[in-house]
Amino acid sequence: MNLHEYQAKAVLREYGVAVPRGVVLEEWASVHEAMAELGSGPWVVKAQVHAGGRGKAGGVRLCTSAAELEAAASALLGSRLVTQQNAPHGQPVHRLLIEEQLPVQRELYLSLTVDRAAERIVLVASSAGGMEIEAVAASNPELVLREAVHPVTGLMDYQGRNLAFALRLAGGQVASFVQLAKTLYRIFVDKDLSLLEINPLVLTRDGRLLPLDCKMAVDDNALWRQKGLAACLDLSQLDPKEAEAHAHHVNYIALDGNIGCMVNGAGLAMATMDLIQRCGGRPANFLDVGGGATAESVAQAFRIILADPNVRAVLINIFGGIVRCDLIAEGIIQAVRTVGVSVPVVVRLEGTNAEAGRRLLAESGLAIIPASDLTEAAQRAVAEATR
Ligand code: GDP
Ligand code: MN
Repeated sequence: MNLHEYQAKAVLREYGVAVPRGVVLEEWASVHEAMAELGSGPWVVKAQVHAGGRGKAGGVRLCTSAAELEAAASALLGSRLVTQQNAPHGQPVHRLLIEEQLPVQRELYLSLTVDRAAERIVLVASSAGGMEIEAVAASNPELVLREAVHPVTGLMDYQGRNLAFALRLAGGQVASFVQLAKTLYRIFVDKDLSLLEINPLVLTRDGRLLPLDCKMAVDDNALWRQKGLAACLDLSQLDPKEAEAHAHHVNYIALDGNIGCMVNGAGLAMATMDLIQRCGGRPANFLDVGGGATAESVAQAFRIILADPNVRAVLINIFGGIVRCDLIAEGIIQAVRTVGVSVPVVVRLEGTNAEAGRRLLAESGLAIIPASDLTEAAQRAVAEATR
């Protein structure tokens, strides 16, 4: 789960990390209060959306006069911001973060994430801050530095210093950097984060080291014990279909093909998508109804798939291990009856009670196309979608 920049900065503040002074603006009417609170400017107006690349997209505006700030706030608030990183129709801007503008001397990059291969939390730093780290890694890999943290010792001072020296920091900045890196590591662990990215981390002209931007992602599996962060969820930032799926505990990711997929189990879902591609088709989504699928969750998943206007055929691939295929069949029938389906539905059921499930589908009188194995199901769905 992603946090907004202003929420992430509140976490930093909670741990004593100095961040630029800022005010969150939710409605245009409060713009003068915000200015009064921050003093005489200059300011930065920042659209709060769950996407990077806001700067290039006009979502981060440097303002020197009150009139400029008013104009920027009124243009951004209530708009949709399209950046290189989000969907073509962008994301809604319901809040702005207005901050004091800082005199930036250098922009650095610092992030923490989990390196699965090393099985450690790793710090990634670069002197090329402010740009996308993926681009830096591709063009100048020598500028991307890493320090993996041993879970028993935590981040050691020397590791922080290694990074600080490589970033060409000097004097008191080295100690501030080490202190900051250690605090970020503590936050990462305490808050069960999967990503903590500061881009840019700036060195100001008066020698201070401050995060100008901050992105945090919380491990979804830990939300049950991160109640404060879980409450930060902003469904408006998700694709509406993904938001609905989230509310019904269905794992759904919208894609741009035209074959809707409903599968139980993430691995089977990926295999199904691969097979569709192999047969010359393109999946419209990834959808895992989970191991404990019920008739209701299947019906709900169906609704979500069909809400996508690009869907020309639906492929249902269920392997009944824990779930019973007859229950799934009931869910499909219920969904087709209540939702009304105008596209062909290809179903492959295998495993527990598969016979009973197939019989229910055959006797339902609905135009459901049975398939006896996965390859046949994929071929049929591709054929139906391109018809
Ligand atoms: P992103 O594009 O979504 O990653 O948004 P950022 O918060 O990183 O802002 C984009 C860029 O705006 C930064 O890399 C800075 O160059 C610039 N910027 C943001 N805040 C300030 C500020 O207080 N002072 C100055 N000089 N530049 C800023
Ligand atoms: Mn940034």
